[in-house]
Amino acid sequence: MMLAQLPFFTLASLLVAFFVVRTALVQGLQHALDRHPFFKKRRIFHAQPAPGQMRRELIANGFVVVTEGLFWAVALHFGLAGKDGGNIIASFVVCLVWWDISFYISHRALHTKLLFPLHRQHHRARINTAFSGASFSIAEALFLMTAGWGPLLALSHWWGMSYLGVFAFHEFFSVLRTTGHFNSEFYPQFWVRSKWFNWMQTTTFHALHHSRSRGHFGLFTVIPDRLMNTAFADYEDVHDRAFNGDTSASELASAPVTVKAAA
Ligand SMILES: [Zn+2]
Ligand SMILES: [Zn+2]
Repeated sequence: MMLAQLPFFTLASLLVAFFVVRTALVQGLQHALDRHPFFKKRRIFHAQPAPGQMRRELIANGFVVVTEGLFWAVALHFGLAGKDGGNIIASFVVCLVWWDISFYISHRALHTKLLFPLHRQHHRARINTAFSGASFSIAEALFLMTAGWGPLLALSHWWGMSYLGVFAFHEFFSVLRTTGHFNSEFYPQFWVRSKWFNWMQTTTFHALHHSRSRGHFGLFTVIPDRLMNTAFADYEDVHDRAFNGDTSASELASAPVTVKAAA
């Protein structure tokens, strides 16, 4: 692969520059859309972010994208990633399934007394903004990437993985990480009511994690939380109220409800 043959500094600079531009575009678009009446009408929380929150999040975003760029530069330059090859769709799906499992485990570990200091920066946001999704400490970013990408990098040495499939997943994940922190519910009701869609998360799902902390640890799907009884039983109700512009969603979402398995 051509990228791996570039001098380390050039490779790292290219990756960091790409991540900075992509992050700025996605976050900028979300920040602009946030003022549109469609989103304003569907607020999950009718409150403003804490003073100085966005500034702190932007600084954290900067450190995270540099860390991610360096992580991938090391993985490619020093041969931690296997040779490019394999099926694009299979590689994408393997990344998706593994990240959904590994993130749930890592995220629950980050909520233990021992590891929560690493995760505190992300939870400074009780009201999410376009900049909350990539707002982590460097230690948390390294922890999550090692747990998520480490086994996949090892796998890539004996089971061919497509660089394009992995890259597609990486970008899908990065975009969803930002949009998953909208303080508006734009996923329609069938998303939580239809058996074909209700296994996928909505913005309300993760917003409840930020306000209550004690459940909803998953990344893409609601499956690990349902299996482990960490799904909030009133999730669908809060979702519907937010999507329909009912301001009572805000009070419900703030309430420290005991974690119960959803029916
Ligand atoms: Zn979050
Ligand atoms: Zn958390």
